Amino acid sequence: MKNKAEVDTRFALCFPDTYEIGMSNLGMKILYGVLNNLDGVWCERVFEPWRDMSDEMKAAGIPLWALESGDPVKDFDIIGFSVGYEMSFLGVLDILALSGIPLRSAERTELTPLVFAGGACMYNAEPIADFIDLAVIGEGEQADLEVTELYRRAKKLGWTKTEFLREAAKIRGVYVPSLYSVDYAPDGTISAITPHDGAPERVTKRIIEDLDSSFFPTDIIVPSTEIVHDRAVLEIFRGCIRGCRFCQAGYVYRPIRSKKCSTLVKQGIELLKKSGYEEISLSSLSTSDYRALGELCDGLLDWCEPRKASLSLPSLRADNFSMEIMKKVQKVRKSGLTFAPEAGSQRLRDVINKNVTEEDILNSCRTAFEGGWNGVKLYFMMGLPTETDEDILAIADLAFKVLNTWKKYASNKNRGVRITVSTSCFVPKPMTPFQWEAQDTMEEFRRKQKLLKDNMRSGAITYNWHDSEVSFIEAVLALGDRRLSPVIESVYKKAGGLAAWEEYFSETAWEEAFAENGIDPAFYANRARSLDEILPWSIIDTGVTQAHLLRERELSREAKTSPNCREKCSGCGARRLDAEGRCDD
Ligand code: SF4
Repeated sequence: MKNKAEVDTRFALCFPDTYEIGMSNLGMKILYGVLNNLDGVWCERVFEPWRDMSDEMKAAGIPLWALESGDPVKDFDIIGFSVGYEMSFLGVLDILALSGIPLRSAERTELTPLVFAGGACMYNAEPIADFIDLAVIGEGEQADLEVTELYRRAKKLGWTKTEFLREAAKIRGVYVPSLYSVDYAPDGTISAITPHDGAPERVTKRIIEDLDSSFFPTDIIVPSTEIVHDRAVLEIFRGCIRGCRFCQAGYVYRPIRSKKCSTLVKQGIELLKKSGYEEISLSSLSTSDYRALGELCDGLLDWCEPRKASLSLPSLRADNFSMEIMKKVQKVRKSGLTFAPEAGSQRLRDVINKNVTEEDILNSCRTAFEGGWNGVKLYFMMGLPTETDEDILAIADLAFKVLNTWKKYASNKNRGVRITVSTSCFVPKPMTPFQWEAQDTMEEFRRKQKLLKDNMRSGAITYNWHDSEVSFIEAVLALGDRRLSPVIESVYKKAGGLAAWEEYFSETAWEEAFAENGIDPAFYANRARSLDEILPWSIIDTGVTQAHLLRERELSREAKTSPNCREKCSGCGARRLDAEGRCDD
């Protein structure tokens, strides 16, 4: 809590989804800490209320408020959103509307409130270009501070919003959509993106060069109700050495930067002590790739074990999963085990550069079953480029082999076995070698899901799949351009926020909104792009070069893998973002 009289800038840090999701988000915790460390700035949390609550608020004429002070969001200076999932675009509108703030940037003519967004979805901010004043591209720890400081200066000097935005566009990593005009060719593709008023030709993402010394919150807010990831979370490194070709996170978080083991042990213990949590989870894109993982587990368990606190390790890979690490974690509590082979056949795993063999997967399962685990979850993606029915059937085969591995090696067969196969629908993502690909149609997804379901060979294997309707909209939004802003606005007006939640997702609202705005959604989701097409996100520079993405795409077509970054640097270009050209040292 801060004293209102002593602050000059009120910052509403908004998460466009519910409290339970937003409070689990590490980025929110980091930015909340960073901003509140600024004297004169008070940053508070805002989440999207659940529908029954927002209906009552609307009926009673109560505008949305921030959690710390209880003051209405519309009284804040800066409204900052963290957007990590395309379906949350509607949540952005929900928060603005419930706060009584005009939705469109052009309707907010004053400097205050300033509305901006950051997070992984801002690598293609175009679908919400009409609503935000600016986007921060990349890691926000420093850039958000710079935007906030510039805003304070602008407020003091009485700048207009236009003056502020022109100046803000000069900050590295800041993208101001209104300073770019987009032209279209008769076939609907983009013919030109033109910057105005001194805006840069390309916006280069921000990174924190030295993660080890950068701010990490250990005095976090303990949630007031159970949240989805209700535990302490320790970020161990950013980036990923693997280069899976479908994975946006793996490409946009480059270069790889790790924290020292000693720093992590210290931060982890502090986090547990201050929060009172009884579980700590090590977070990264691929936890088993942390070089000193054994040492880190030992360091944390020395403190945890006597206090009955547990350690969980999500994001383990099937090819370097070790019994040694597993035994360490098992000491306190057995957590669920999940592997993500992503594709059923070796050919398709090579296409996506997963670099995991069937032998790796079965060996890891054997290790787990021998170690007393009785269940494993296997994640796959459907609709990957070049996929055939054989690849789908290979998922069923692999699950069956995992079952046989349990039968052969389980140390404890009394409790039975649970093998869960989950498939999601592949969504081509910007900034990856698959950014030019078409998504399978919904009908094709449904056919493939049925094919797999009909071919699962044992009752001990449960098969879950994601609905293709949501994935289709996800693809439209991920690959879309600014012509989608009116569509998003009309969907919001018809169906409200919380669009990622099954109970509020309305296929009809989307269909109607596309029709009303003369948009064919298949143009975005189901169309393969030519390699020289100007993509809506082409002015954003993540460090990784177009040449690298094209090279990887070509290799995928030949089902050839690339070495991981530790075996051999493939020269993706990301290390040029570091002043000294460092990567994964
Ligand atoms: S610069 Fe090299 S090591 Fe670093 S992410 Fe790119 S390919 Fe990997």
